[in-house]
Amino acid sequence: MYEIGHFIGGERVAGKSGRSAEIFNPATGEVQGSVALASNEEMRAAVENAKAAQPAWAATNPQRRARVMMKFVDLLNRDMDKLAEALSKEHGKTFPDAKGDVQRGLEVAEFCIAAPQMLKGEFSEGAGPGIDIYSIRQPLGVVAGITPFNFPAMIPMWKFCPAIAAGNAFILKPSERDPSVPMMLAELMIEAGLPAGILNVVNGDKGAVDAILDDPDIEAVGFVGSTAIAKYIYGRGCSNGKRVQAFGGAKNHMIIMPDADMDKAVDALIGAGYGAAGERCMAVSVAVPVGEETADRLIEKLIPKVEALKIGPWTAGNDVDFGPLVTREAQKRVLGLVDRGVEEGAKLVVDGRNFRMQGYEDGFFVGACLFDNVTKDMDIYKTEIFGPVLSVARAKDYEEAIDLPMSHEYGNGVAIFTRDGDAARDFASRINIGMVGINVPIPVPLAYYTFGGWKASGFGDLNQHGADGFRFYTRTKTVTSRWPSGIKDGAEFSIPTMK
Ligand code: NAD
Repeated sequence: MYEIGHFIGGERVAGKSGRSAEIFNPATGEVQGSVALASNEEMRAAVENAKAAQPAWAATNPQRRARVMMKFVDLLNRDMDKLAEALSKEHGKTFPDAKGDVQRGLEVAEFCIAAPQMLKGEFSEGAGPGIDIYSIRQPLGVVAGITPFNFPAMIPMWKFCPAIAAGNAFILKPSERDPSVPMMLAELMIEAGLPAGILNVVNGDKGAVDAILDDPDIEAVGFVGSTAIAKYIYGRGCSNGKRVQAFGGAKNHMIIMPDADMDKAVDALIGAGYGAAGERCMAVSVAVPVGEETADRLIEKLIPKVEALKIGPWTAGNDVDFGPLVTREAQKRVLGLVDRGVEEGAKLVVDGRNFRMQGYEDGFFVGACLFDNVTKDMDIYKTEIFGPVLSVARAKDYEEAIDLPMSHEYGNGVAIFTRDGDAARDFASRINIGMVGINVPIPVPLAYYTFGGWKASGFGDLNQHGADGFRFYTRTKTVTSRWPSGIKDGAEFSIPTMK
């Protein structure tokens, strides 16, 4: 049993609220530790601390700030296995997948080494007689990130790396389900040379989140989690005058055209549908084969591959395709949704509901499930299941296929598998979804592009990482200057124009 407190002022501190949450080992179902849940007063103290440290950090030149990110990248590589192990133990994902989680965050840290370049402004000489105009990007001050359980390394880094490289102080409120890795990341940032108080991890639940949303000294909030909470965060944060970006849930479709390479499409679906037990916002959860003949070929090839998926604890290393779900509650919810699909008349062609992991009978495992004949009106089609469940929704032609993701509530990711450039091009242009894959099942953009869904998958107008990461955590100031001869000619009383 271990206890996780907070990371404030450059060190681990114990929680003082008297409230805590249990941390489970998802593979065994046992409680392995506890995490403190911050009170308003603890959040306020962390913000005060961050506020005091921020001006000196903002005044540190961007090249020196970038060097901290450089060193941080080295340390992440040094501690990769340690971080991945801690991550798998609390999240349940496989060890190679946990390393991927750290790696995709590391790549954002790597991108943020470009801070001096990303923070450059613009300059127009001679915009009027003796007048120059220039713009500068300045940090906001104290900013925050509230992150989900499913990527406890990557998503915190998506948020704090650009914010800190830009000169802000940061309050991270990670998921209470798997809090160890965010604490380790904060320690590594200190080891990399970050001054105390610039990155603070305040653990907690709704209470800590509300304290962030209402804190007058927090200027911006970046959120990732489920859509209902994203909407809430966006509404409350904006009404308090903060800058807010809030990314939500997903239901990602993959369209399989009749000319697609079926073996490649099936492999793609297996990885994207069942990897991380489906607990990814970019998981493919609906396969849309075009035409009955394509659908029959797809199902025939999918069934044996789904049945052959290897499930187990992270300690089994490369021998396992996916692990348990994160909590007992998540396991019950997913099993309930599979029951609902059967009631609604979808055809459950692979039934993983009775899966039991030998030696881990109390773990939060769910076996792989595959539904055929899923239709638009069903709850299992409308709802984000977030488990190892893939639905096949048959479409008679391309137009019917594209209409499914277009009319769905969510708009995070989507993919098309085809050999036809014309279809792929039309699809990429018309689809109303933020991230599109062409013969690529999980089109997660690399660190130097931006990540963000549309419709109910994202609220706010700037994406995460890439250039938008810096834009979100900075503001532009535009300076119009005239030196010094303009003044000696005397005052002007009419508005200056360029005529
Ligand atoms: P969640 O919404 O339950 O929790 C996210 C964060 O919000 C956590 O830090 C949690 O403590 C906090 N929170 C939970 N309930 C709250 C409440 N009532 N009031 C205030 N704060 C609250 O999400 P989760 O289960 O941790 O993560 C899974 C979800 O995140 C899925 O829906 C998934 O699609 C989504 N997700 C989206 C993206 C994206 O970029 N769009 C990426 C990863 C995950």
